Amino acid sequence: MKLADLFDHFIIDLDGVVYIGDKPTDGAIETIATLRGLGKTVIFLTNDPRGSCREYAEKLNKMGIPASPQDIITSGMAIAHYLKKHYKLDYKKAYVVGSQALKEEIAEIGLILTQGEEAKRSDFVIVGGHQGFNYEEMKIATIAIRNGAHFFATNRDPVFPTPEGLVPATGAILASIEYATGKKATIVGKPEVIIFEVAKKFLSSHERVAIVGDRLDTDILGGKRAGITTIFTLSGSIDQDELSKSDIIPDYVINDLKDLLKEQ
Ligand SMILES: [Mg+2]
Repeated sequence: MKLADLFDHFIIDLDGVVYIGDKPTDGAIETIATLRGLGKTVIFLTNDPRGSCREYAEKLNKMGIPASPQDIITSGMAIAHYLKKHYKLDYKKAYVVGSQALKEEIAEIGLILTQGEEAKRSDFVIVGGHQGFNYEEMKIATIAIRNGAHFFATNRDPVFPTPEGLVPATGAILASIEYATGKKATIVGKPEVIIFEVAKKFLSSHERVAIVGDRLDTDILGGKRAGITTIFTLSGSIDQDELSKSDIIPDYVINDLKDLLKEQ
């Protein structure tokens, strides 16, 4: 009996599970190929708002993991989905602190992107971590939110794993804007269920679904809230010691993706 036998659909986190930086984790390429060969659905779910679905698919393809943009769910996609569903967006303006990919995602749902003076009177401020984050962005976002803009962020992850170690993610950037405004952003990425609802639309059934992730406070907590079986992997940001101290308890723990196919 293998753990993979229990499921037909896998929602797999990317950073720290499938790859770290540009390097696939041990056994990721073979495991994903085998799961698909067994007829199982594999979709990838990332809180990282820096890339578009097409860019993540290209990254996976380069590593030897075949993927198309339709196999990828990002927190940028989830925020676009949420805003479209809950607000009238006609002629509304958004100031986006984030990557080009996130800006495009927001522009696609009809929001008018702002910058400079105009941005200070935006209807929405949307924050997603990106490497170009600077004081000017922090300042404009703060003024717009203090002027009454709705405040959203893709996620609250404090860090993500890289070959250099854990580096600041959206949550660290978001904290500066929250501190300056005294307001908390609405989050749509993991651990909120919104991103899982978007993911479920890509599955033919909502039975026998598992999420595989390397963060307890996002992947595992979010999976539990969404009613999905949770598989925690030690290949990413959290080690056995932190796991044993946490009150978020995953259904299963694996060392890396290879363990899904190990005889138990
Ligand atoms: Mg991760």
